[in-house]
Amino acid sequence: MPDETIHDIFIIGGGINGCGIARDAVGRGYSVFLAEMNDLASGTSSWSTKLIHGGLRYLEHYEFRLVREALEEREVLWKNAPHIIWPMRFVLPHHKGLRPAWLLRLGLFLYDHIGGRKLLPKTRVLDMRADPAGRPLKPIFSKAFEYSDCGVDDARLVVLNARDAADKGAVIRTRTKVVSARRQNDVWSVEIEDQTTGTRETVRARLLVNAGGPWVDHVLGETVGRGDVHNVRLVQGSHIVVKKKFDDPRAYFFQNADGRIIFAIPYHDDFTMIGTTDQDYQDDPKEVAITEAEIDYLIASASEYFAEPVRRADIVWTFSGVRPLYDDGASKAQEATRDYVLKADTDGAPLINIFGGKITTYRRLAESTLAKIEGLIGAKGRPWTERAALPGGDFAVGTFDATVRKLSDDFPFLAKAHSRRLTRLYGTRARTILGSAKSIEDLGRHFGADLYEAEICYLMAHEWAKTAEDVLWRRTKRGLVVSREDAARLETFMGGLAAAA
Ligand code: FAD
Repeated sequence: MPDETIHDIFIIGGGINGCGIARDAVGRGYSVFLAEMNDLASGTSSWSTKLIHGGLRYLEHYEFRLVREALEEREVLWKNAPHIIWPMRFVLPHHKGLRPAWLLRLGLFLYDHIGGRKLLPKTRVLDMRADPAGRPLKPIFSKAFEYSDCGVDDARLVVLNARDAADKGAVIRTRTKVVSARRQNDVWSVEIEDQTTGTRETVRARLLVNAGGPWVDHVLGETVGRGDVHNVRLVQGSHIVVKKKFDDPRAYFFQNADGRIIFAIPYHDDFTMIGTTDQDYQDDPKEVAITEAEIDYLIASASEYFAEPVRRADIVWTFSGVRPLYDDGASKAQEATRDYVLKADTDGAPLINIFGGKITTYRRLAESTLAKIEGLIGAKGRPWTERAALPGGDFAVGTFDATVRKLSDDFPFLAKAHSRRLTRLYGTRARTILGSAKSIEDLGRHFGADLYEAEICYLMAHEWAKTAEDVLWRRTKRGLVVSREDAARLETFMGGLAAAA
């Protein structure tokens, strides 16, 4: 019998924007169906620089609205997810011949003051000859500014939004592609295809949200049938991950002679992440990969600062993503706006297209989308996400270390780094994974590093993980440390569980 249900909202895309909108909408009382053609966060949302930041550089492009909103969001999101978001200090060396010190000071003054900063410490000046931050750099850098932003586990932010949405009643389908969406009277008839079995079904909804990220124009043109459309500019950005370049917990913000900037950020204990680039991209976003020229650029830019140059042999991993930037006609890729634009199409059942945006502003983007939805299909509930913890984030900022210690006290068989990693990824829900375990053996089969069966089963049952790649590169970054053999064993194990389900 065909399903007669008509959902309020159908969302195409399980990146940060689709999942953020799903969570906000279902929490207000709308019924929500979200389809993601691959894994959650498998698009742009897991390939970012992983910063919740105002975007100091955007001040140069006079993007004051965006910078203010993004700065305000830092502390809001940190409070809501103190496990997967953490405060960071950035060291910006003054480079003679590039931006003058007075300009950096002015930019950072604005940065400290326009965005409601309360908890994050303010900017200070460093004497790099005395400060440990100067040690890994060339001695020519004698002065630097140190300022605040936050780090984030981007892929987990997406999954936790999806988890909370599902806990509140949203239907979240992964590996489910929307193959067509057509208006039938006042309702959307959306055809979806299970990417594992090829089975198709039709889902009906009153309003459609196109949060397809870099595929947003493709969805609008092909899937919705609007023909040739051009709203976003696809801009590739790549990172290299190298063996740890420095011990200091602070990150570096390096200016380049071409006016761009790159970051060098401590990454998963033993590594340094360096990025990013900005270059126009024309092909299928799924195929994006770092180019030789990007590797050369990142190595040369970082080596301009580090006393010991970055070598190709130091690279352990690279990753690339495609920014779906709203096309504002800027001549250079780096100058295209990072702000988001929402466009409603009300020629029949309503459609809202999401163009652009940042991980940092996803919650505000969701609120703006909900404001439009209310006008189109009627209001339900009120904005609620500003003070609502994401799953596992129900502990106070500033108590992360205490939360780790408590977990170690209650599960004394865990190595300290293991307790820390579980708290960082799952917050208070680490206890659901550990259950009543009394020894490491109680966590089941071992898949290398500190990855055990109990965590895999949790990820499959609660976080839509289906393949080893989902676990190793998106739910965790254990892919950096487990061997190929362990990864292959994990794939077989997960395949067996999925087949038995
Ligand atoms: P996506 O994450 O790409 O999600 C869209 C989803 O739609 C995809 O998962 C895709 O599979 C799905 N989809 C498409 N078509 C269909 C279909 N037909 N059916 C079903 N599903 C479909 N922002 C920050 O705030 N901080 C940063 O440090 C930062 N750094 C960045 C660095 C780089 C190199 C890049 C590329 C971006 C960075 N960003 C950063 C920006 C941020 O990552 C993006 O703006 C954001 O992730 C976009 O999310 P999204 O949900 O719109 O797109």
